[in-house]
Amino acid sequence: MSSAEAVAVEALTSKVTFRFNDGVEYEALSNEGESLLDVARGNEVPVIHQCLTGSCASCICKVDTGEVSMETERLMSLLPSEAKEGFRLTCTAYADTDCVVDLDYPSTFSEDHEASQSVITINEFEWVNHNTVRIVADLADDAEMESFEAGQYVQLKVPGTEEWRSYSMSSTVRDLPEVTFYIRVLEDGVMSNYLRDRAAVGDELEIDGPYGVFYLREEKVPQIMIAGGTGLAPMMSMVDTLRLGNFRRKPVILAFGCSFEKDLFAQEDLELREGWMRNLDVRTCVSRPEGEWGGHNCRAQFSITQDDITDPETIAYLCGPPAMNESARDHLESLGVKGENIHVELFETV
Ligand SMILES: Cc1cc2nc3c(=O)[nH]c(=O)nc-3n(C[C@H](O)[C@H](O)[C@H](O)COP(=O)(O)OP(=O)(O)OC[C@H]3O[C@@H](n4cnc5c(N)ncnc54)[C@H](O)[C@@H]3O)c2cc1C
Repeated sequence: MSSAEAVAVEALTSKVTFRFNDGVEYEALSNEGESLLDVARGNEVPVIHQCLTGSCASCICKVDTGEVSMETERLMSLLPSEAKEGFRLTCTAYADTDCVVDLDYPSTFSEDHEASQSVITINEFEWVNHNTVRIVADLADDAEMESFEAGQYVQLKVPGTEEWRSYSMSSTVRDLPEVTFYIRVLEDGVMSNYLRDRAAVGDELEIDGPYGVFYLREEKVPQIMIAGGTGLAPMMSMVDTLRLGNFRRKPVILAFGCSFEKDLFAQEDLELREGWMRNLDVRTCVSRPEGEWGGHNCRAQFSITQDDITDPETIAYLCGPPAMNESARDHLESLGVKGENIHVELFETV
């Protein structure tokens, strides 16, 4: 190769350093047109990923140094504020210069939480409000889900179709082989139509998982969880994991919000947990109450005030519609919660 050619090749490649939160770093070269995830996969860097389309956010990273651009025309499950703070989805992001990107999980995470495929059988099917079902199902014997972290999701195949959809488990590892889901039934949707029109106890669904990096960081600091609608599901798993583990001293605030009272669900379950856990403060919020409402009359995020931020290392988890997540992130940051301590799961793309 001539020196001119060598320079041209060099100009088209960038060095990407993938830095995991256990301090392990991988360096790899990115060629023009390769996404960060392509680079990682081509070099056996253990970056977590699932959908490859920008709609699940499993492959999220944060740029520390360098320029990393992203495709904006593809479905994105990244909030505008997260993009501004330097977060990127590696499947839709490209190194424009040498760069260092941080992954907020240990380098062993994907090996320790490998997805597997199996089947679930529906045991209980219950409408918990006008548009939400609770499903309790049994995993088949061959399922390997013991490693799932509270907050992670699985993919379920809609019976009679080739379509897969993602759902967070509201149950914990201790409940296995039973798994529980809360699913909002939309007016029209592949899974929604199955649940409304055909689903019944005894149905079998293919399952694939666990996936995702929205999971409980069991650190000894206060935790704030903000859930909108069925965004409550992963929080229930986290609360129960904290309850059953050794983490019972630091305050946990769970703010659960819906527009109308008729949209609420799981109220008895939440009350029970508040009774069992002295450190748990559940704030049920209705933003547009139609009658007398004794709870918080606001969006869930605004039930959190300055007095709740007692520790600069407070960790927050947000799971709700994009607008709620965006507003909750802004609100928490304005109260002093660090951006890197705010973990977000989006059920709908923005
Ligand atoms: C990581 C992850 C975890 C998830 N966990 C849960 C969960 O625990 N519970 C839950 O209820 N959902 C959850 N979802 C959303 C779920 O995967 C489906 O998107 C949702 O159930 C709609 O599927 P569907 O087949 O009925 O509709 P589709 O056929 O996919 O879509 C029909 C139409 O509805 C729109 N749409 C899709 N999702 C929503 C939504 N949530 N609200 C309003 N409109 C929508 C689509 O843009 C489309 O126009 C999760 C999504 C992700 C990415």
